[in-house]
Amino acid sequence: MTDNTTADKPVWIKPTLRAHRSGLLNKFGAVPSRQWQDEFEDVPVADLIHQFGSPLFVISEQRLRKNVRHLTRAFSARYPRVQYSWSYKTNYLNAVCAIAHQEGAWAEVVSAFEYEKARNLGVPGEKILFNGPHKPRAILERAIKEGAHIHVDHLDELQLIDEIARATAQNVEITLRLNFDTGVTEPWSRFGFNVESGQALDAAWRVAHSPNLKLTGLHSHIGTFVMDTRAYRAQVKTMCQFMERAEKDTGCQIDCIDVGGGFASRNALQGVYLPPEQVVPSIDQYAEAICDTLLEATHGREREGRPRPLLLLETGRAVVDDAEILLTSVVGNKRLPDGRRATIVDAGVNLLFTAFWYHHNVKPTRELSGVAEETVLYGPLCMNIDVMRASILLPPLDVGDVLMFSPVGAYNNTQWLQFIEYRPNVVLVHDDRQVSIVRAAEDLQAVTAQERLPDHLRDVSPR
Ligand SMILES: *Cc1c(COP(=O)(O)O)cnc(C)c1O
Repeated sequence: MTDNTTADKPVWIKPTLRAHRSGLLNKFGAVPSRQWQDEFEDVPVADLIHQFGSPLFVISEQRLRKNVRHLTRAFSARYPRVQYSWSYKTNYLNAVCAIAHQEGAWAEVVSAFEYEKARNLGVPGEKILFNGPHKPRAILERAIKEGAHIHVDHLDELQLIDEIARATAQNVEITLRLNFDTGVTEPWSRFGFNVESGQALDAAWRVAHSPNLKLTGLHSHIGTFVMDTRAYRAQVKTMCQFMERAEKDTGCQIDCIDVGGGFASRNALQGVYLPPEQVVPSIDQYAEAICDTLLEATHGREREGRPRPLLLLETGRAVVDDAEILLTSVVGNKRLPDGRRATIVDAGVNLLFTAFWYHHNVKPTRELSGVAEETVLYGPLCMNIDVMRASILLPPLDVGDVLMFSPVGAYNNTQWLQFIEYRPNVVLVHDDRQVSIVRAAEDLQAVTAQERLPDHLRDVSPR
């Protein structure tokens, strides 16, 4: 009830109920962050915005290198044969891929476009893992010729590879993609060959019967943002059991076990109420789960003088997510009919596709004063779905104030949409703190470059 009593004259006001929204604890049990951050990798946010405009994606070269090294060391310290491959679809900006490759990563691609991108960057075919359910004949022919690792998704594809191998008199080593129930994660049964139903073993037999094909690898990718490391223990166990069975039955010799990607990043998944620091396993915990199981399962091979398989990793999200931020500026404030404050910023779900499933960390970039209040953050699109954050406690923001969204390195620079707005600059903070554009902001010319206007439509005056 509102108390509006003045010293001399009490005035009666109709009582109203108001939700108490600006407390210390929110419904997620977390104390709202009062932090602000005015630099990224020691480069002032104000300088970045001044020089490159808003909104702006900023990538840290140092952080990305560190993450790749950390991942590869965590696995190499626990298992003798490890090769990491960069998952292109997670972020295929050339600069990002090049940094991963300089750190020793191969390329993991899932389409003709991604294959061509990797080759164009100078990655040789032998260092490309070719996944995905759609590999048209022309790109398969090229990939086979160039010695890429072909990960087969279905029987028609196996047939096509067999045809190409025969027609060109080549011997092709192939990897089968497997799917199965880990008992922990939702099975991704649409990719690859199912183990439980016997489909995968049938495929291994098909390969064995072809004079031109050789089964040398097994692949599976059990999901994404997998927060339970037991899923990986189950995965490796199933893959190793299948390896032994396929080798014994069909006479193949498996040299690679590829466990795919899927490690969670330190991002807050919507609907998970505990902070990511508490629920997301560390890279070392993932490495331990996978390497322990693989060492145990391949112990016998070593005793018998058969080599342990090469462990292939295709981690995307957990490597790149925290190496990139998005800076966005306030363009206006308004009050919604239900009393909530709404703030409109210049970056929306067109740029931050992951806003649909994460509660990103949102930080002001200067010290703000005033009472924090529940705020809706809207993007600039003329679309109801353009919500960057449905509810966040923030002090009042002025037009021009810059907010920092993080982490945003995974699946945004690939899934973003050219929709309503131009896509902005993406810059890289180099190891030496120099900053350069790695993807230039779009303009009218860039966005309409592929359009063709028939002659009779050139004049738009009414006829
Ligand atoms: C997407 C994908 C990855 C990378 O997944 P993350 O969850 O980003 O680690 C790896 N392998 C395959 C086959 C994929 O489709």
